[in-house]
Amino acid sequence: MLKTALLLWAVEAATLSVLLLAMWANDRRQTVVLAWSLGFAANALGAALVGLRGEIPDYLSIVVGNGFQALALSCWAAGVRHYDDRKFTVWLLTPVTIWLIGMHFPFFASTFWMRVFLFQCISALGYGMIAYVLAEPKLPPRNGRLVFACIALVQSLLMIYTGIACLFVRPETFSEIPNGFFYTVINIFCLVSGILFGAHLLMSRTERRLQQLIVTDPLTGVLNRRGFLEQVQAMRARPPAGKLMLALAVFDLDHFKRINDRYGHKGGDAVLIAFCRSSIECIGTRGIFGRIGGEEFACLLHVASPAEAVGIIEAIRLSLMRQRIGLAGTDRIIIATVSCGVTVSSILDAEVDDMLSNADRALYAAKAAGRNATVLHDGKASYRVSDGQPREEPPQTSGQDTSVTSFPLPPLPPLSA
Ligand code: GH3
Ligand code: MG
Ligand code: MG
Repeated sequence: MLKTALLLWAVEAATLSVLLLAMWANDRRQTVVLAWSLGFAANALGAALVGLRGEIPDYLSIVVGNGFQALALSCWAAGVRHYDDRKFTVWLLTPVTIWLIGMHFPFFASTFWMRVFLFQCISALGYGMIAYVLAEPKLPPRNGRLVFACIALVQSLLMIYTGIACLFVRPETFSEIPNGFFYTVINIFCLVSGILFGAHLLMSRTERRLQQLIVTDPLTGVLNRRGFLEQVQAMRARPPAGKLMLALAVFDLDHFKRINDRYGHKGGDAVLIAFCRSSIECIGTRGIFGRIGGEEFACLLHVASPAEAVGIIEAIRLSLMRQRIGLAGTDRIIIATVSCGVTVSSILDAEVDDMLSNADRALYAAKAAGRNATVLHDGKASYRVSDGQPREEPPQTSGQDTSVTSFPLPPLPPLSA
């Protein structure tokens, strides 16, 4: 009866292992799936070897078979760690190590109930490890993780209980192990819920990745227009202490068409990527940055004053201007500049549409003022801020107010801030 059950389970676990292996072969970045596949393979092999007790050498059935079962728990726990982007650590191999060491002591190796006791203890440790790696990091899906961590913990406690009971009852065959039926039912429940929860983890990760793709620009990796606008509300809701203003800036790379014409589309792409990288460095944790159009970008910052906003935007502009962007596969260097329009509002009054149109006006004025410039629009007038030197009044263009006056330039934050 037990033998049949073990062999049946071995076939099921082997099937799961092959399915997971096929999933991993499809996308080899999914190390978690490989770890879980190896776990089911070890579990299947272990169950088959234990199930063949009496028909194969005892060493294979007892030491190797149970060793593989313990190894399966390590693989499953390692899979959860990989899922969380954490590396494998050797302490995950503790259960199988204790088992193999224990089997070198005749005290454990030669007595059935002592072996059962030891196996229950190392399995309890293995399930405890799984509970720990699930519950320890505060990562989503938090509730699902805690529920399954509890299930693994119950399994662990049950194994400790059965192990201790063996010390009193001293069974000599499988059928004499106390609460054997109850224990088997709980065991199956835990394994099935483990499989379901594993599938849930994989699905929720796929969903998170899809959600991230929806809000990310594939070329530069920054937020796309949708992602940027989605974050705006969160920025309004969580101002850091002392930063009661929001600054919205829009950027448009200068003569970008010419860059494409001169260096090819790849050259243009390299400039887009370089601009995003340096801008994100300048902004740090002070705000968000996104690509809102082809060569148009925006950032939203928590600031204490317009001068602070202007300082950060100028740092972004100067950082691009000073870069020597290499064109891959050639020794050509691209130099690019950007025009910036910025507007500032108190958080309470901040209306994104109004701010976007004010920043757009400022950007238009920056272009009209000769490009490679930053202009601040405060809702009434535009101020040219680059270098703190007012340039010549730009020509008026139909419909748009492009007149600019000078704005005292604040000290620039370090470029890598
Ligand atoms: P201005 O200084 O007035 O902004 O001139 P501009 O040439 O930058 O502006 P224009 O709107 O005429 O050209 C924008 C160009 O940006 C046209 C388009 O081919 C290019 N572009 C848009 N998206 C991408 C992209 O993802 N990669 C590359 N390489 N080019 C892009
Ligand atoms: Mg443009
Ligand atoms: Mg442009």
